[in-house]
Amino acid sequence: MAIIDYENLGKTNQPFFDEYRHAFDKVMTSGWYILGNAVKEFEKEYASYCGSNHCIGTANGLDALILSLKAFNFPAGSEVIVPSNTYIATILAIVHNGLKPVLVEPDINTYNIDPTKIEAAITPATKAIMVVHLYGKLCQMDAITTIAQKHDLKVIEDCAQAHGAHLNGIKAGNWGHLGAHSFYPTKNLGALADAGAVTCNDFSLQQAITTLRNYGSQVKYYNEVVGYNSRLDEVQAAFLSIKLKKLDAINDHKRTLAAIYQQYLKADFIKPVEQPGFYDVFHIYNVRHPKRDTLKEYMLKNDIKTEIHYPVAPNQQKAMAGILDGTATPIAELIHQTTLSLPISYCHTKADVERVIEVMNKF
Ligand SMILES: *Cc1c(COP(=O)(O)O)cnc(C)c1O
Repeated sequence: MAIIDYENLGKTNQPFFDEYRHAFDKVMTSGWYILGNAVKEFEKEYASYCGSNHCIGTANGLDALILSLKAFNFPAGSEVIVPSNTYIATILAIVHNGLKPVLVEPDINTYNIDPTKIEAAITPATKAIMVVHLYGKLCQMDAITTIAQKHDLKVIEDCAQAHGAHLNGIKAGNWGHLGAHSFYPTKNLGALADAGAVTCNDFSLQQAITTLRNYGSQVKYYNEVVGYNSRLDEVQAAFLSIKLKKLDAINDHKRTLAAIYQQYLKADFIKPVEQPGFYDVFHIYNVRHPKRDTLKEYMLKNDIKTEIHYPVAPNQQKAMAGILDGTATPIAELIHQTTLSLPISYCHTKADVERVIEVMNKF
């Protein structure tokens, strides 16, 4: 039997190849390669998809996070609350802004930041909460926005894994002041290169991000603030507009595969929780098991590739020495030690998932 890849981006994007070739041709012959119509169109379409007033394209997801924080101009050394189990990008964005990441542990059932632990982490220096909708499930945004309002904190959402996910009908990127999105090729809405965006409802924030991403300039050669070059590429924007039309179908496909896992994987594996009101888009379908490493090897021997998101908790990373030292994060570490991500891509079939389940259930 053929190997089941964890992801095969060539296969995942194949349904779009013809339209992509046409779109590439259009951008190439237009002669306008930076911040042209394709970026404008995609920004309009993605804002509308998210239910936001504005979308500003950026070069990648990390930049979307960095510029989001930058837009608020917090005093150096201000504290930003962030979950202890996230991809390093969320924490890097805080560090690159000269701010201090303050880790809050996740809920062991949802893997997202535990709202009941946020208030204890708030100090007079706290300025913002950066939430991460990990694996494609929204955080408990109703509770979190209530806390933020009470303490006058900004809320920035890391939506890299949650395109189209919603809670009570309100989508990722539309709960906080700003939503940072990544269109890295493996994401649910993935480009063919690095790409990202920020969504927001406030016009002055839209202006701030638009200026920051383009050398601090609104009018060419007139620089208002110390800016960056972090523009969404015109060709990638054209591709993203095409894929955006299929995002709901991509999310549906992943949800269908997830439902099969949920129903048929044996109870030895700790499966994702499903809660009323939450529409999860399963960027990642993970299970937890105490013998995770043995399980991963066993799957590979049976020609099934899996991944670990993520193997090392942020506070245990070498890069974070001197930055996150001294913070105990036992819940995050437990997740990192036991989690395994199973194939759940747009290119996988129900038959693929059934084979994964059959092998898993013999473990
Ligand atoms: C992918 C990802 C990012 C970063 O996106 P890039 O486009 O690779 O810079 C940030 N946060 C999370 C949670 C991610 O999964």
